[in-house]
Amino acid sequence: MNKSIYKDLKQLLQGEILEKIILKRKTTYQIGGEASLYVCPNNSEDLRCLNSYLVQNDLPRFVLGGGANVLISDRGFRGVVIHLKEFVQLSFSGSTVVGGAGLVLDDFIVTCLRNGYRGLENLSGIPGSLGGALRMNAGAFGAEISDYLISVKCMDYQGNFKVLSRSEVNFSYRKAPHLQNMYILEAKFKFPCAKKETLFIVREEILNQRRKRQPWQYPTAGSVFKRPPGYYAGELIEKAGLKGKRIGRAEISRKHAGIIINLGGATATDVLELIQLIRSTVLENFRINLELEQELVGFDQADLIS
Ligand SMILES: Cc1cc2nc3c(=O)[nH]c(=O)nc-3n(C[C@H](O)[C@H](O)[C@H](O)COP(=O)(O)OP(=O)(O)OC[C@H]3O[C@@H](n4cnc5c(N)ncnc54)[C@H](O)[C@@H]3O)c2cc1C
Repeated sequence: MNKSIYKDLKQLLQGEILEKIILKRKTTYQIGGEASLYVCPNNSEDLRCLNSYLVQNDLPRFVLGGGANVLISDRGFRGVVIHLKEFVQLSFSGSTVVGGAGLVLDDFIVTCLRNGYRGLENLSGIPGSLGGALRMNAGAFGAEISDYLISVKCMDYQGNFKVLSRSEVNFSYRKAPHLQNMYILEAKFKFPCAKKETLFIVREEILNQRRKRQPWQYPTAGSVFKRPPGYYAGELIEKAGLKGKRIGRAEISRKHAGIIINLGGATATDVLELIQLIRSTVLENFRINLELEQELVGFDQADLIS
């Protein structure tokens, strides 16, 4: 990316702008090459300026949250990675809570539980940001981030601010269709109240379950695939005989076959090849097409069909 873009953005924006940032440090897989530019706008106005510059100059963008649901190519991302780490506002009014997209999801959950708000305790331990959780409609143990959501404030790629109600977003399992191609800025929730001691007991139980079921000692990005209707992806992968299969330094977890782990030094190509192997084997054995839950970033068409 040419030097003048960095200079232009330095003049235009107040927020942090970094060149050639290694993205493996920003993802839970600990995988990913360089981003040409990595920009953290200070506020909505900064973001709006950045967006109009990107539109005018036809530059690719990717909004990165906590990097807990992405596989970034070894070549990285040739464009501008936008990280909303400054969007961490938090306010309470009665049982209504407004939180910024850059908040760490689990910190947000703990704050809600401390205030005696019920609804997010089952999501305890899900890595990433509040913005990423909304985009993915993250969920666990029968609960989803959208359950007690009132509205989401976002900005579209034309620079228009919008407030979308829960029903306008049209959430479903790991989907938030109308948050696609939007910058998610903040979300408003209204929670029922409960005794905080009880909520923290539930939280501890959930965290224990996670530790038991998931290979938490290794870098991963959680479940690779969505649950196909009527099945569990991990079960199908195990039945197909792929549990423990390794390519390079990536392995289908022996603890949970729905998760790929980085044994240390895995490349995005190792993970992608395992993904392709899983999909073709499960399709061949069970006639089921597994849908990716994780997002592939910075790959080109040739990588995906090879
Ligand atoms: C150990 C582990 C366990 C996990 N367990 C679960 C689980 O139980 N349930 C579950 O649902 N997920 C789980 N995940 C996956 C992951 O934690 C969730 O998908 C999480 O919500 C991703 O949030 P993030 O901020 O990391 O998003 P990222 O991975 O950074 O991004 C994901 C998507 O959201 C978009 N995005 C992020 N922030 C914004 C924003 N502000 N505006 C617009 N778009 C944005 C990105 O562009 C991308 O499309 C797990 C992951 C790990 C590593």
